Amino acid sequence: MATAYVHDFDAGSREQAALLGGKGANLAEMTRLGLPVPPGFTVGTDACRVFLRTGEVPVGLDAEIAEHLTGLQRAIGRRLGEPDDPLLVSVRSGARFSMPGMMDTILDVGLNDASVFGLAKASGRERFAWDSYRRLVQMYGTTVLGVAAARFEDVLTRRRAERGLADDLGFEVSDLAGIVEEFKAVIGQDTGEEFPQDPRAQLDRAVRAVFRSWTGERARVYRRREHIPDDLGTAVTVQAMVFGNSGPDSGTGVAFTRDPATGRAGVYGDYLPDAQGEDVVSGVRNALPLQELEALDPRSYERLTGILGLLETHYRDLCDVEFTIERGRLWILQTRVGKRTAEAAFRIACALVDEGLIDWPQALSRVDGGQLDQLTFPRFDAHGDATLLARGVPASPGAAVGAVVFDVPEATRRAAAGEPVVLVRPETSPDDLPGMIAAEAVVTGRGGKTSHAAVVARGMGKVCVCGAADLDIDVAGRRCTGADGTVVAEGTTVSVDGTAGTVYVGALPLVASAVTRYLETGIRSAGVVEAVARCLEQADAARRLAVLANADTPADAARARRFGAGGIGLCRTEHMFLGPRRRLVEELILARTDADRRPALDALLPFQRADFTEILAAMDGLPVTIRLLDPPLHEFLPDHTEAAVRLAVARATGEEPDPHEVRVYEASERLREQNPMLGLRGVRLALLVPGLIATQVRAIGEAVVARVRAGGDPHPEIMIPLVATVAELRLVRAEVERVLAEVGQEAGIPVDCPVGTMIELPRAALTAGEIAAAADFFSFGTNDLTQTTWGLSRDDAEAAFLADYLDRGILTVSPFETIDREGVGRLVRLAVEEGRRARPDLRIGVCGEHAGDPASIHFFHEVGVDYLSCSPYRLPAARLEAGRAAGSVDAEEVTRRRR
Ligand code: PEP
Ligand code: MG
Repeated sequence: MATAYVHDFDAGSREQAALLGGKGANLAEMTRLGLPVPPGFTVGTDACRVFLRTGEVPVGLDAEIAEHLTGLQRAIGRRLGEPDDPLLVSVRSGARFSMPGMMDTILDVGLNDASVFGLAKASGRERFAWDSYRRLVQMYGTTVLGVAAARFEDVLTRRRAERGLADDLGFEVSDLAGIVEEFKAVIGQDTGEEFPQDPRAQLDRAVRAVFRSWTGERARVYRRREHIPDDLGTAVTVQAMVFGNSGPDSGTGVAFTRDPATGRAGVYGDYLPDAQGEDVVSGVRNALPLQELEALDPRSYERLTGILGLLETHYRDLCDVEFTIERGRLWILQTRVGKRTAEAAFRIACALVDEGLIDWPQALSRVDGGQLDQLTFPRFDAHGDATLLARGVPASPGAAVGAVVFDVPEATRRAAAGEPVVLVRPETSPDDLPGMIAAEAVVTGRGGKTSHAAVVARGMGKVCVCGAADLDIDVAGRRCTGADGTVVAEGTTVSVDGTAGTVYVGALPLVASAVTRYLETGIRSAGVVEAVARCLEQADAARRLAVLANADTPADAARARRFGAGGIGLCRTEHMFLGPRRRLVEELILARTDADRRPALDALLPFQRADFTEILAAMDGLPVTIRLLDPPLHEFLPDHTEAAVRLAVARATGEEPDPHEVRVYEASERLREQNPMLGLRGVRLALLVPGLIATQVRAIGEAVVARVRAGGDPHPEIMIPLVATVAELRLVRAEVERVLAEVGQEAGIPVDCPVGTMIELPRAALTAGEIAAAADFFSFGTNDLTQTTWGLSRDDAEAAFLADYLDRGILTVSPFETIDREGVGRLVRLAVEEGRRARPDLRIGVCGEHAGDPASIHFFHEVGVDYLSCSPYRLPAARLEAGRAAGSVDAEEVTRRRR
C-alpha cells in the first residue's frame, strides 16, 4: 500500500507529535476526546522531509489531499471557495517541538473574487469579508509568492494617508476592495504571476510554502538556539476556519486550565467579543477577563470550563487553549501543555502532585535545573526607560549594580572602601582575579559563555556579560562607549543583567531571591520557596549520584555545605600559592639546590597547614578531595613581557635593575613554554620539582592531626592531576604514602587518606584499567579532557572561533559547556568500564565544569559515575538534575532544552 501522508484529525493521537507535529497531534487528541474541534487534516512531517530532500512533494500527495478535502467538505456541508457560502481553511505549520511564530501560516485560503461576496452574504458582514480577502492576498503574496512585505505595507501607508486614517480599522469596503486590486497588481508586477483564483491551487501552494518555511532564516536560527534537529521537518494542518468576528454572539479567546503564574486551580484567560484570534494577539482592543464570558454567554462558558477541566485531567498538566465562539457555538482551535515561568513550573508540579494527578518522578520531569537557577538570582524589577549601554552574551545570570572600573587596582580600591563595582575589561585573564572577586559583576568586550571571565564568574556566582562587541572599552582612557555613542567614564553607575546579557546606564531597582534565602538559611515560606524545597527533597531522595562541591576556601566550603554538598570533590590548591606567598614561590623557583629550596618550602608549610585545617573543619565529617598543585610554575611569576619592559626601561635610563627582579625574569625566561597547557604542570610538577608535593602532603597530614586532636572528623583524599601513565601515579603515590606515614608516626595518630587520580588526558582514559590498579578513585577533569580530546585550548577557541563554529552550525553547543557524548563522552564511558573491571570498588566522579551542566549530568548518571563535583552555586540545580536523571527523564529532551 502506498504511504499515507495525510491524516484526518479523528485518526491520530497526541503520541504522534513526531509525525503530526505538536499542533496536529493535539487537535487529533481533542477530536478523539469528542471535543468540538473544527474538522481538518494534517499532512505529516514525512511529506515535508521528502520535500526538503527533493524539492518536490511526494508523488500522490496532491491526490491524497483531494480525498481528505472531499471528506472535510462533506463533514462541514460547504465546499472550498464555493461562491455562495464558501468553506475557508487555515494552513498552519506545526513541528514536533513548538517553534512559535518561526514558520508560516496562511489563513482564509479559499477566498477569491467570487467567494468574497459569498462570505459577505453568509456572514452578513461585508467589510469583514473584504478585510479577510485583503489579508489573504497579502499573506499569500509574501509567504507563497515571495513578494517583499514592504511592497504591501507601502500601499497601505499611502491609502491611509489619502484617507487621513491612523490605522487600518477605518478602511471601508470600497477602500478594501481597491487595496485588494492594488495588491494583486503588485503581485503581477513583482512575480509575473496572477494571484490564483482557483481555491485548490491556493491550498496546494500554501502547503508547499509552509514546508519551505522550515528552512527559513528565522526557523533555522531558532532551531539552533533551542537545539532542535534540522532534519525533522514540519507538519501542515489544514483546518476549517471558524469566525469569532461574526457578531455580538461571537468572539475569541485564550484560556488556561489553571493560573500559569501560581499553579492555582481556576479559570484564567482573556476573551474578546466579536473578534478574530489575530486581534487578541495584536492587542488592538483590550480583552475582557475570561470570567466575564459567563454573563455574556453562560452556555458557552459552562461548556468551555467543562472542557478545560477535562483537558487538564487528560493531559495531567496545565494546558493553554485557544477557542472561538461563532454565533453561540464553541470551537476549540488548539491546545498544548502551557508555557510557564520558572516559578510557576515548581508550583504547578507540586500542585498537581497534591491533587493526585501526577506522582513525584513526573513532577520532577516538569521542572529543571535551568529554571531553579533562574529563581536563585536577584533580578531587576523593571528596565523602564533606562539607557541600554551594551548587549552581549548572558554568561552568568543575575543582576548587579555598581560603579564602572577598568582594572584590578581601581576595583579593589573602591570595593575596599565599600563601593560596589562593575569590572569592565576587553577580556579577563588570571591576573584579573582579584578585581573579579572585588566586583559585583564583570563585563567583557570579547569571549563567550566559556571564556575565562564567564567560567570564573559562574564559579564565583558573579553576574557576567561577555562578548559585548559593540562596547568600545578604552582602558587607558578609563571610559567606554556604547553602540549609540553613550560615553561612560570610570565611576559611573551601571546595572548589569547577566540573565539577559544587557548593561544599562544608572541604577535599576533590585529584587533579592527568596529561593536563595531558603538555600542559604533553610527557612521555608509558602509559595515558590515551599515548592522548590519539596522538589529538592524529592530529587535528593531519588538521586543515585552524590553531589559534591568544587571549593577552595573555608568560605566556599561553608557555602557548599549550606547548598547541600556531600563534601568537596575538588579543592584546587593553586590559590594557596598566591598573594603574599607568591614571593616564597618565587624563591622556590629560583632555588637550584634542595638546600636552597628548603627555607621557602618550610615557610610555605604553616600557611598551607592552616588553609587545610580550616577547610577540613568546614567540611567536618565529609570527604574533602584535595588536588595537588596543577598549573605550570611560571604562572606564579610576574608577567614576562611586563618584566622585560621594566628591565629595558631601567637599563635605558641607566638605573641599576633590582637583582631579584633580574633573577625572576631570567627564571621566567627559562620556564617559558610554547604550550603551557601541555607543558610542565600537573603530576609532572610533582615528579620534577623536588619537595613540592612533600610539602603539600605534609601540610595535609598535619592538618588532619590538628583536626583529630581538636575532636574533629576529617576525611581528606588526595588527588593527582594530569596523570597520563600509571607509572607517574605509582611514583607520586609512593611519595604521598611515605610522607603521610611519617606525619602519622611523628604525631602518633595514623593518617588515613585515599589517593586517587584525575582522568583528564585521553591516554589516561584509554589506559584506565591499568591506572585503576594504583588509584582509590577517579575524577574526570572534563575541562582538560575536552581540551586534549579536541586539541583545542579553551580560552583560545573561545576568543577566536568557537562562536563562529556555533553560528555556522558546525557545533550546536560548546563542548566546554555540555559534554560531547560521542567523543569525550566515549572516553569517559570506556574509562568507567575499564576502571571498574580492574577494580570493582573504584569510586568515580566528575569535577570539570560539566558536572554542573544539566544535560551532562544525565549522561554521567547513564554511564554509572558515582558523584559530581561542581561550583557551590550550581549545587542546587545539580541535585535537582541528578534526581531527575534517576527518574529517567529523557536525556535527549534535556539536551534539547538546555539554554
Ligand atoms: C578539569 O580539567 O576538568 C579540572 C577540573 O581541572 P582544571 O579545570 O583545574 O584544569
Ligand atoms: Mg584540569
